[in-house]
Amino acid sequence: MAGTVLVTGGTGYIAGELIGQLLDSGWKVRTTVRDMAAGGGRLRGRFPQAGDDLAIMKADLLSDDGWAEAMKGCDAVAHVASPFPMGVPKDEDELIRPAREGTLRVLRFAREAGVTRFVQTSSAAAIAYDHDSDRTHFDHTDWTDVTDPKVAPYAKSKTLAEFAARDWVRDNAPDMVYCSVNPVAVLGPVHDEDLSTSIEFVKKALDGSMPMIPHVGVGIVDVRDVAALHVKALEAEAEKVRGERFAASGPFIWLEQITEVLRSRLPERETRKVPTTRMPGFAVPILAVFMPEMRQLRTETGRVRVIDSSHAENVLGWTMRDCTQTIVDTARSLIDQRIVKV
Ligand code: NAP
Repeated sequence: MAGTVLVTGGTGYIAGELIGQLLDSGWKVRTTVRDMAAGGGRLRGRFPQAGDDLAIMKADLLSDDGWAEAMKGCDAVAHVASPFPMGVPKDEDELIRPAREGTLRVLRFAREAGVTRFVQTSSAAAIAYDHDSDRTHFDHTDWTDVTDPKVAPYAKSKTLAEFAARDWVRDNAPDMVYCSVNPVAVLGPVHDEDLSTSIEFVKKALDGSMPMIPHVGVGIVDVRDVAALHVKALEAEAEKVRGERFAASGPFIWLEQITEVLRSRLPERETRKVPTTRMPGFAVPILAVFMPEMRQLRTETGRVRVIDSSHAENVLGWTMRDCTQTIVDTARSLIDQRIVKV
């Protein structure tokens, strides 16, 4: 059912992969960027064959400017843009405002343009963060508890944005077919130096800037599979996806296991700097004082969070590749493009 689709935040890691798959599937793609010169130029360079099938427009989640024009003539929207920083901002509204208000803005302009399908890139961060319990298994029916003060601003921003979208669609656009895709940590090949936060661990492990490994684990999913799930959500029959929530996760894996995969699957000369020592638990809160990226780990040390994505598999026939290959492909792309110099 290809038509015209708006992908928000075309400079992003997931959005870039999604744009490529949508173009390959015959969709005409519009995408928004905040910086036309840098972001727009990079995107054009990545998809030189797209010609008129790819239009790049300027729009920011915090302003109305540009959205009406970007949305004109679109059948569908994949709302991917949202801030995903490495550290924790002093003011949580730096994340919550663009996530929540931005989503509502994109929805409002989508309805005004007659868009009938809306897929929101939410996150497992909107599913699995209820710190006061010892639960280890979650699925698409679970919600992060935003009233828990220990929930990080990023998880809060994603949860509030998804909540707000669902409420808004119910009250203001009940005919619009809305669903969300909720991935865990996304890895896989990168295409430029503007790395998503989810790639940072593999980069730091390879370049030696992480001398010890925090005892932290994540679910991993491949960017190519996440993009494919978005395409399925955009193309499936309306009744299969209306109101649905599609968690997207491969296996839960400790960061130590990721370093083992790197060492066992890459040539030795490329893994000389990959750490081998586990960071002692007492070091995490101390380091968190000086390193903002460690702050998110304080509550995650030793925690297991397994996300079940069988709902996406059963409803949409979605499949995932082997996560070992995803880890290797992430590292390969970082090294081959000399983003990491080993
Ligand atoms: P990314 O590479 O950092 O991309 C984020 C995108 O959002 C960029 O295009 C960025 O634009 C855009 N953006 C941020 N603030 C904006 C604003 N105020 N107005 C307009 N655009 C704005 O991150 P990603 O990994 O692709 O993530 C994309 C989406 O997937 C996010 O919604 C994220 O929460 C979600 N997600 C990611 C993961 C993961 O592990 N990567 C997992 C679950 C969910 P600029 O280039 O201009 O900064």
